[in-house]
Amino acid sequence: MKFTPKEIASLSKDFETASPQEIIQWAVDEFCPNIVLSSSFQTQSVPLLYMVKEIQPKMRIYFLDTGMHFWDTLIFREHLDQIWDLNIVDLRPDKKWHAVLRHFGTDLPDTDPNLCCYIRKVQPMQKAMKGLDAWITGIRRDQTENRAHAQILEYTRDGLLRIAPLLNWTGDTVFNFIEEKNLPRHPLPHSRYPSIGCKPCTRAIQPNEGERAGRWTGKKKTECGLHTDMFNKNGFTEDDFKNLPPL
Ligand code: SF4
Repeated sequence: MKFTPKEIASLSKDFETASPQEIIQWAVDEFCPNIVLSSSFQTQSVPLLYMVKEIQPKMRIYFLDTGMHFWDTLIFREHLDQIWDLNIVDLRPDKKWHAVLRHFGTDLPDTDPNLCCYIRKVQPMQKAMKGLDAWITGIRRDQTENRAHAQILEYTRDGLLRIAPLLNWTGDTVFNFIEEKNLPRHPLPHSRYPSIGCKPCTRAIQPNEGERAGRWTGKKKTECGLHTDMFNKNGFTEDDFKNLPPL
């Protein structure tokens, strides 16, 4: 580790009043090329993609190609790549899981969303993060209860430094930035789809619902596991996937 946990805690506190661009510039200066940005390529991802490509155009951008995205997301990813010449790396489920995915087919998001997220998101990301020093993510404190307690700089259990430059932004700040810079928007209407994940686990929200109310409706699940300790222990146990029907 380049910085001790105590140094990171102190820097993180200092960054509470820094701009996202200042935090990204610090991260690039300290960790390039051993640093990546992860992005889900929805409208709210655009400010961070824009800032990173302005500061370090060659930074790798990890996109979880789950095979379950809306076509609109894939088209939007392609559009941003074409206009900004991004260095996108698509991450896909490891071959060892293909038989499981074939067996459960399109039912898995419904029968066991935790296993589905593990195979399609967490495991490919954990594998791709090996050997890296730092990871930039677009999470914000106003998104979920779990994220409300996050820090701008935080070590994961694997010793990777997670950097969240937009942690103190709100949904309004994101959209004001998009307006101000006239940035591209995901084709799905923001008023109905303010948070977009995989198609089976995303629905349009009602006018009185919160930003992430359309994610995993009825599943008692608010996070895929990338930003929690859900899968960070030593492997997983039968309890993690107890709803899975027998093979
Ligand atoms: S968001 Fe849904 S479809 Fe995507 S990986 Fe998770 S459970 Fe599977």
